[in-house]
Amino acid sequence: MKILVINAGSSSMKYQLIDMKDESVLAKGNCERIGVDGHFKHTTGDGRTYETDVVMNNHTEAFVQIKNALIDEQYGVIKELSEVSAIGHRIVQGGALFSESTIVTEEVIKGIESLIPLAPLHNAAHVQGIKACLEVFGKDVPEVVVFDTAFHSTMPQKAFMYPVPYEYYEKYAVRRYGFHGTSHRYVSQRCAELMGKDIKDTKIITCHLGNGSSITAIDGGKVIDTSMGLTPLDGIMMGTRTGSLDPSVVTFIAEKEHFSPSEMDTVLNKKSGFLGISGVSSDDRDVSSAAADGNTRAQLAIDMLEYEILKYIGSYTAVLGGVDAIVFTAGIGENQYSHRENVCHNLAYMGVKIDDEVNKKAIRGVEGKISTPDSSVEVFVIPTNEELVIARDTMELVK
Ligand code: ADP
Repeated sequence: MKILVINAGSSSMKYQLIDMKDESVLAKGNCERIGVDGHFKHTTGDGRTYETDVVMNNHTEAFVQIKNALIDEQYGVIKELSEVSAIGHRIVQGGALFSESTIVTEEVIKGIESLIPLAPLHNAAHVQGIKACLEVFGKDVPEVVVFDTAFHSTMPQKAFMYPVPYEYYEKYAVRRYGFHGTSHRYVSQRCAELMGKDIKDTKIITCHLGNGSSITAIDGGKVIDTSMGLTPLDGIMMGTRTGSLDPSVVTFIAEKEHFSPSEMDTVLNKKSGFLGISGVSSDDRDVSSAAADGNTRAQLAIDMLEYEILKYIGSYTAVLGGVDAIVFTAGIGENQYSHRENVCHNLAYMGVKIDDEVNKKAIRGVEGKISTPDSSVEVFVIPTNEELVIARDTMELVK
């Protein structure tokens, strides 16, 4: 069975065609600058690459590019489109409506549309993606939606409520939802496998650290708390996002600078975090190399990030009542070993010990345990694979 995984953004559409026989990636690519001008890149599992500037006015036109590339004589990986058994879509916001992956129906599309106010850019683009897919691939190819929020739906109410007047929860569904759920689900399950334990018997803290970052407390395979909130702005500091701060900081700056809500939103989402503090870049590699060259603001950004990771691990250990394993994943978590080293050394008080040499080597897609055998908490680096989870869920549902 071959499954096409789609991640549709407002002006981009990433895809992977996965052969579920051995879970190998047959082809992957990205349609960028949809509705602007258009750039298309397609790479096959055996290393053939096709890249071109091509106008894509909308998501339907982007799907036509993907379809043509998949069956192309030179760059294709399948003979005919009917070889695609199903299509799985990543959906950012499932709200309180969707607690698990589901087959796309008219009702489901309406549900995703009804959540657009909670994730305006993302959910609107996902709906366009689903509809475009239907136009190009037809009704006979089943579509499945997999939600970033779903894994977090087990959070207890005391963890997901914000202490604002209750009416805003009732009127507008203002609450913590959490994101990166597909990643936290994948790495926590993989972590239990690597520990040789049933996930039901584990307490795990997963740290997804990328351009967007979130940390999750998982008890017996169920999320009990997560750092992102109503939107992916909450939690720890990120590439360009603030993470949590005193809400008065927002109103204070907005008043001083005469910012509208949307201008303030831009500051919080696009100009803050690593970029805002370091003044160098939103990218951890740039900030780390500037810090190594003596840039004190870049060093401050790194110190702040590591401090926040430490605070979350400490507080989530408390709410879990202890922790068996800590997992690092995503771009920063999988590659920037110095953050793992600094964070874990500061967890020595709770018996965390890592092997610094093993830790240094756990980069660029390497999976493994970085804690020492006598560490009281196991520490893992596990490369995330959200596309694979989407493909597996899709296969499970269409079977
Ligand atoms: P996104 O949230 O956009 O998916 P990623 O998970 O790709 O982000 O993470 C991007 C971050 O990972 C950047 O800050 C980047 O500096 C950092 N990073 C460090 N080393 C690497 C690497 N070898 N490959 C990719 N990203 C890396």
